[in-house]
Amino acid sequence: MNANLYALFANHFPKDLSRCCIETHDGRYYSWLDIERASAKLANLLCSLNLSAGARIAVQVEKSPEALILYLATLRAGYVFLPLNTAYQHAEIGYFIQDAEPEVVVCSPQNFGWVSQIAFQTGSKHVFTLDAPSQGNNRGSLLDRAACMSDQFTTVQSTPTDLAAILYTSGTTGRSKGAMLTHQNLSSNALVLKEIWQWREGDVLLHALPLFHVHGLFVASHGALLNGSKMIFLPKFDADQVLHYLPQATVMMGVPTYYVRLLQDMRLNQTLCRNMRLFISGSAPLLTETFTQFQQRTGQTILERYGMSETTMLSSNPYDGVRKGGTVGLALPGVSIRVRTQDTKVGEASEAEVIGDIEVKGPNVFQGYWRMPEKTAEEFTDDGYFRTGDVGKLDQDGYLSIVGRSKDLIISGGYNVYPKEIESLIDDMPEVLESAVIGLAHADFGEAVSAVVVLKAHAQLGATTLIARLKSQIANFKVPKRVFFIDELPRNTMGKVQKNNLRQQFQDQSR
Ligand code: ATP
Ligand code: MG
Repeated sequence: MNANLYALFANHFPKDLSRCCIETHDGRYYSWLDIERASAKLANLLCSLNLSAGARIAVQVEKSPEALILYLATLRAGYVFLPLNTAYQHAEIGYFIQDAEPEVVVCSPQNFGWVSQIAFQTGSKHVFTLDAPSQGNNRGSLLDRAACMSDQFTTVQSTPTDLAAILYTSGTTGRSKGAMLTHQNLSSNALVLKEIWQWREGDVLLHALPLFHVHGLFVASHGALLNGSKMIFLPKFDADQVLHYLPQATVMMGVPTYYVRLLQDMRLNQTLCRNMRLFISGSAPLLTETFTQFQQRTGQTILERYGMSETTMLSSNPYDGVRKGGTVGLALPGVSIRVRTQDTKVGEASEAEVIGDIEVKGPNVFQGYWRMPEKTAEEFTDDGYFRTGDVGKLDQDGYLSIVGRSKDLIISGGYNVYPKEIESLIDDMPEVLESAVIGLAHADFGEAVSAVVVLKAHAQLGATTLIARLKSQIANFKVPKRVFFIDELPRNTMGKVQKNNLRQQFQDQSR
């Protein structure tokens, strides 16, 4: 059997290949046959370039059906897909290209000049734009060149352990690392999610996520491809467009900010969601407030799940059972999740309600960080569990809650302080929009608990009042010593709060 992920998808394409696979916001339709033929042409082109086995194809382009087709073509041709965030500039692209040494780089026309310079200096053999040719690039775009290729291609035979993609982590806690994922890592996860989210005949996916990240590229697209379901492709999240297309969709996936923004729009109501059967949230914590408000407004219970670049999905709230707000649900079938403290003995089961490091094992767990064997070895336990770097707890029913990242854990005066606990209390204050609790170096305490707070428009709240309120609720060592008010928390494109930046920004002010 061919373990190539594309072969798995192709087995699940609808019998009638003339049906619509992708509809775009600007009225373009791609049938399943279009997808098959266009990916065949691109796969033929990639094969004509005489690349080495395991060559990386780095891609930094705006979201489009063609970008997804290029991903599928890379799978079919047996090369390694390496998507890059469209927001990345010179320094970042320089780092990724030097680190990954891709033989092919595909970029946008406006970046062609500087990207090709970096790529050729690093030894890349080919630099292309995807569609529109750039000025000065007279070799034509990738799609132009693929146009004369055959639209028939026999997907190469892959073994389960062949690499399918390298996904760079979001860089929330430090420099991004390249997570090496195999065909089996991706196919095992896609199959499990199809089952537990009950993908069915007639499903239509509203796809508003970017394609350079695990959420949009894998979780969302794989779900639809494996179910033979139509995707409505939006170039990016736009509340107007999402509200326009919601009545035509049955499934939507988003980061928490999407749901916050939808709730801010008074047009969001139950009628618009009448055909929806599943809203999924992930990539960053969904506030319980958002979960509850969404339920009240639309009658829909957002299903929160948890995963990361290194593992794809790990846990999910159930489709049929209770979806508990504030939790990321139960371990996926075939995935083993444990929560360990320093006192946990080898082989001992995780104790309910005890906070510790989240460790995981399963067919979805990656092969290691690209060219970082030491870092890889450090992040696996002796019995083969991957240390996620997240801290959490399991409840009596096996639902996992994430309380933060181990790197964000604050140790103040020898006590562990979990930021999420304090953030939740601050967020509950009526004047507060959102908050981030961080540790800042402190001569006496090691780290001083510090809160960065965003107030709601026109709200008034001083540091003294905020601190006084917390003092009546939690132990003194957890109460922030300093409070900073700002207009907006710094977030990366996946909606993750960049605590690194906050620590840097406020360290000097706190001295
Ligand atoms: P880096 O590893 O480079 O610091 P990153 O961990 O943000 O960046 P990703 O792999 O994109 O990079 O994100 C995975 C992380 O996102 C998880 O480890 C977890 O901290 C967070 N995450 C994902 N889903 C959820 C969720 N539902 N609730 C809370 N956090 C989540
Ligand atoms: Mg990470």
